[in-house]
Amino acid sequence: MKRRFNLRITGIVQGVGFRPFIYKLAGDHGLTGWVLNDSQGVELEIQGEEESCKTFLESITAKKPEISVIEELIDKEVPVSTGEENFIIKPSRKSASEFVLISPDLATCPDCTSELMDPDDRRFRYPFINCTNCGPRFTIIQDIPYDREKTTMSEFPMCPDCSSEYSDPGDRRFHAQPNACPACGPELTLLDNDGTEFDTESDLIKITVDLLRKGKIVAIKGLGGYHLACDAMNPEAVSELRSRKYREDKPFALMFPGIESIRDQCFVSEEEQRLLTNEIKPIMLLKKKSGCSIPEQVAPGQNYLGAMLPYTPIHLLLLNDFNGPLVMTSGNISDEPISYKDPEAEDRLSKIADYFLVHNREIYIRNDDSVVREFKGAPYLIRRARGYVPFPVLLPLDSEIPVLATGGMLKNTFCLTRDKYAFVSHHIGDLDNLETLRSFSEGIEHFKKLFSIHPEVVVYDKHPGYLSTRWALESGIKNSFGVQHHYAHVLSCLADNRFSGGKVIGVCCDGTGYGDDGSIWGCEFLVTDYTGYNRAGHLLPFNLPGGDSAILNPYKTGISLLKEAGFKNNEINNLIFKDLAEELEIIENMLSEEINTVKTSSLGRLFDGVSSILGIRERINYEAQAAIELEMLADLSTEKIYPYEIKENNGIFKIDFRDMIKQIVSDRTSERPASEVAGKFHNTVIDFLFSTIQKISEKTGLKTVALTGGVFQNIIILNQLYNRLTGAGYSVLIHRNVPANDGGLSLGQAVFGIINSRKEI
Ligand code: ZN
Ligand code: ZN
Ligand code: FE
Repeated sequence: MKRRFNLRITGIVQGVGFRPFIYKLAGDHGLTGWVLNDSQGVELEIQGEEESCKTFLESITAKKPEISVIEELIDKEVPVSTGEENFIIKPSRKSASEFVLISPDLATCPDCTSELMDPDDRRFRYPFINCTNCGPRFTIIQDIPYDREKTTMSEFPMCPDCSSEYSDPGDRRFHAQPNACPACGPELTLLDNDGTEFDTESDLIKITVDLLRKGKIVAIKGLGGYHLACDAMNPEAVSELRSRKYREDKPFALMFPGIESIRDQCFVSEEEQRLLTNEIKPIMLLKKKSGCSIPEQVAPGQNYLGAMLPYTPIHLLLLNDFNGPLVMTSGNISDEPISYKDPEAEDRLSKIADYFLVHNREIYIRNDDSVVREFKGAPYLIRRARGYVPFPVLLPLDSEIPVLATGGMLKNTFCLTRDKYAFVSHHIGDLDNLETLRSFSEGIEHFKKLFSIHPEVVVYDKHPGYLSTRWALESGIKNSFGVQHHYAHVLSCLADNRFSGGKVIGVCCDGTGYGDDGSIWGCEFLVTDYTGYNRAGHLLPFNLPGGDSAILNPYKTGISLLKEAGFKNNEINNLIFKDLAEELEIIENMLSEEINTVKTSSLGRLFDGVSSILGIRERINYEAQAAIELEMLADLSTEKIYPYEIKENNGIFKIDFRDMIKQIVSDRTSERPASEVAGKFHNTVIDFLFSTIQKISEKTGLKTVALTGGVFQNIIILNQLYNRLTGAGYSVLIHRNVPANDGGLSLGQAVFGIINSRKEI
């Protein structure tokens, strides 16, 4: 007996290969019917034998495309239709707003990969092979609606073979907008850094591989921008790249030819393997094995390597032929954004790269590689970009009025909302130079166009000096709200979890953020919900001499911590900073007179200071370096903790760390290993965070905790605090869809805008 069902699926089911997935699934089950996109999501009807319909329905949620999110699936039985023979993809039902979701760029799929390597295929070794399930999307779309004429593929008319694939609903390339082949599509060019081209008839991939083997640095145009590549096993090449790029210690990412070659160097769990090989193919932070043979220069002072697998056909061909790991780092100088436009890139990178492997498919918008780690069986984002963006985050509440949130200063992202979607932008970078600011404002214009959003509310960080704040205030958007940095972090974590359960204890452990009292906050316990917050606890504030310059020079913070703990100048000098006698006097003056100092309760700065007291890092050359190196060094075999106190004052808990600093100095003078001290320091931080949460919980009765802020990139702190809290019966919210660091800030700001515009507009 045949039966027929109508299904409506809402969530994030457009632009993620959902229709081709349904089409294939229906074919596999011998079902007839149709599928289409409309403004609500996907609607489909299937008809066939009862058993086939049943397994089809079960398979939808079990086998759906990785990045799709099914919010609701409603099925109802409808009368059987006669005379239907096929399953078809129907044209989209246009909504008045013409609003559709746009897919992120996706890694080359297994089908395309096997065609790429098949000598009998017409796309054998063709560096731009793609299909409906893979290839460029976001980075080539100039305007909506998403079809080929509105992409940077418009200048490549399809040949008859490609056209017939494109118009055949049974073909894997049906309506694949970037569809191309050697006869009609983009091609590679290899140049030296004088601009002299290699013969295009020769195998440019093979020549590039030879150059890399000789230790050359090659700029490679990829999906969202240029990479700088060199042989990762060649320490001279890696050091040369560092010096040309002005990048002293910040780790380089690696691209490996396959999962086995990653496993030679790093531990890869089953879950990590799944994330490494999915259609996003992010950079994953993986723990190095003790026999790891990757030269130290690739990631100085790190226990983890950033590893990824090839995600475009160019990378697949290169890595297949090279057969070893390559450094693949963003093509930029120092902290500028990644280069993506040809003449500009060639100009900017000509002082770094010896050769350029480029192509004539224009990148319309830049997009860096995403960086993730695995935590408790799911991805935990460090940098959200390629493969995720412009995929929206589902909001816990409807955005009746469109909101623009401009994010923070470091690791900036912006966020635009409409309906139930938050479009958190790709990683823009640190908003401290003109090039990044341009990328930020162009990005906002592009997102507004792509998703037809005309923001009526703008939300910004309360820090008056942030360029994102100034931009918001000058944007001309009438309704504007400033939101406290750490509250925005907590809201981001709540929204990330689609939380709607009332008040929580928000724990924001961060670098720096502008506090309501004008000081710098950064270890905040906020009893909060979507409507407001109450500062229930924080780290005991200490002086930051020289303000921001202390961030780059952790020894200044170290000296301040020692002063707080009661050490005299001569002790500080003799014990710790032997070669800083002159500067110590200046800093001492600053501190005692409180000139050019700010108060801070930042946990990130506490890490910095301790790192410098231990002699691990007195000056840094990339963000959070001192704290990261302290984490890397920590020996966790000890369970000991240092003494500390939690004092309640006017109903606010303050964590007094001064006894801990005294003990750290005593351990240091009795020559305990730095690794042991670092381990004990981590244990202490976990313990005082946990105890403060306990105290707030006893007072308020709250049992839900949200963990957010940049310090929760520290996997020791995250993991152990999470375990202790869940072990003690707390329900713990952590970030999953956006980073815990300032890259996730704009989501929280946007939610603040939605709530407050409801109240006031
Ligand atoms: Zn494909
Ligand atoms: Zn073609
Ligand atoms: Fe922050």
